[in-house]
Amino acid sequence: MSAKNTCSVIAWGGKPVENLASDVSFTDVMSEELAKDLQIKEDLSQWPELAGIDVTNQACGGTPVQETVSDEMLAQLLQLQFDQEYDRALGKQEAKYNGTSKVGVSLSNYRKIPKGSFLDEDSDSFDDDEWDKTHPDWDSFESAEKESPSISKLGYAKKGGEIITKHDTVITGRKNACKAMELEQLKIGDGGGFDMVLSNKVYNNLKAFSHQEQKRAARLNDKHEKATATMAIDPRSRLILFRFVDNNILERINGVISTGKEAVILHAEGGKSEEVIVPGECAIKVFKTTLNEFKTRDKYIAEDYRFKNRFSKQNPRKIIHMWAEKEYHNLARMRQVGLPCPDVVLLKKHILVMSFIGQGGRPAPKLREAALSTAEVDLAYSQTVSLLHKMFNECHLVHADLSEYNILWHEQQCWLIDVSQAVEPSHPHGLEFLYRDCTNVSNFFRRLGAKDAASPTELFASVSGFSVDGLEADVLSQIRDYERNEEHLTVSHPNQKLYPFDYCWQKSQEARGQQEQLRQEEGSPAEEPGNI
Ligand code: ADP
Ligand code: MN
Repeated sequence: MSAKNTCSVIAWGGKPVENLASDVSFTDVMSEELAKDLQIKEDLSQWPELAGIDVTNQACGGTPVQETVSDEMLAQLLQLQFDQEYDRALGKQEAKYNGTSKVGVSLSNYRKIPKGSFLDEDSDSFDDDEWDKTHPDWDSFESAEKESPSISKLGYAKKGGEIITKHDTVITGRKNACKAMELEQLKIGDGGGFDMVLSNKVYNNLKAFSHQEQKRAARLNDKHEKATATMAIDPRSRLILFRFVDNNILERINGVISTGKEAVILHAEGGKSEEVIVPGECAIKVFKTTLNEFKTRDKYIAEDYRFKNRFSKQNPRKIIHMWAEKEYHNLARMRQVGLPCPDVVLLKKHILVMSFIGQGGRPAPKLREAALSTAEVDLAYSQTVSLLHKMFNECHLVHADLSEYNILWHEQQCWLIDVSQAVEPSHPHGLEFLYRDCTNVSNFFRRLGAKDAASPTELFASVSGFSVDGLEADVLSQIRDYERNEEHLTVSHPNQKLYPFDYCWQKSQEARGQQEQLRQEEGSPAEEPGNI
């Protein structure tokens, strides 16, 4: 800075101010950091619902760039929350003022978030339990039918003094919604639970999707696949997806790429939305909201005082939203340090839209499936090692499910995916997870005959910087001892335990391990290895 150690001249004649930067001593800087840290803790105690949002850069010594991003994200989320609260209050005021009067005032021009905007939470009211209570009328198609007169061949009808034509958008929309309910392969079961109106564009998209799925289903002889293709997406998720199309965020949704235990991945074409910049091809990760194992996670969040305000026992769906939110934050953080991974586009409840790794609707193969040449094996290995390094040392994350199933091979490059479970290195089991990741990577590349493939222990030591040696069991117990010791040190500072997501993940994994064991004892087939 050229202004350093000089006095700046103030144009309006005030006293020149000394450049402060030159006067601040090292101890001052440290106490400033301490003050900042204390401020964050205080903020968190005032805003317990923010505790789940990733502010962990502060605790692990992240770079200033990351802090800014994290702060910015926090600020935006906070602002959004304020705006939504403001609009809710406005809505109440409006309702109070208007009472049951047929003519009323509208305050919608004063809203912070325009009505119908993608960020408008009111437009999602169909997803709230409260909505179910206030709308006992289960089949709105019936009531809407009564309301709209049938239109004769002349192309118009009269209702009251008004002439209604078949081009009336609401009527067309309702008709489209009705037709959509009947489309094969698309079970929009609960569409009648509210006044669903679909534009022609959305309806045509649905129709195209339905036809495609029909063709696909016809091709599949395997009964199981047929079931997953149609059952994969539940009605609630489908409606959110349709709204993406309706809001021009997506142009069209093409179909299912993958159906896993915890999520379904769809391919979609990006639209031209004014609200979000969307890439040409997108992958949509829909976290499953129906799985029992997610319910077991509920408990760990409900018992956590930081989540009490944000999550209630009555709504386990919201807990799944957190996992999607976590993947969103982790991906954003990884992109920030330039790691090759999908770019996040947007997050809506349990649905994450990201950029697509692949081309022309064909997803890039997993390393496991990619037919790599000898030279490519060596290249992929050195890339994977550097990804591990960068992720741990620059991004301060441990993938925790890294294997040949979660690395895609695209344009001669390894891409990391599936990071909802990624944790900070300071997680009570972070280093153990890192060791497991290193073991998977080392075993896979050794099997493929990579030239320089290191042992799991060598890889772990080089990534983490911890010196460990000995056989696998020794190394693991060294790591565990270290972690126990670390945890012991932080017990006296419960505020530092800022990783509820990670804690929940860990607990759910343990629960799953036990279930898996039970299943195996009962003789049921095992799940796909490595791909959580
Ligand atoms: P899970 O393993 O929990 O089911 P993943 O995030 O690993 O979920 O996604 C499952 C599969 O979907 C991946 O193995 C990959 O083939 C595909 N996939 C996921 N995200 C993308 C993406 N952004 N681009 C292309 N394919 C993807
Ligand atoms: Mn995966």
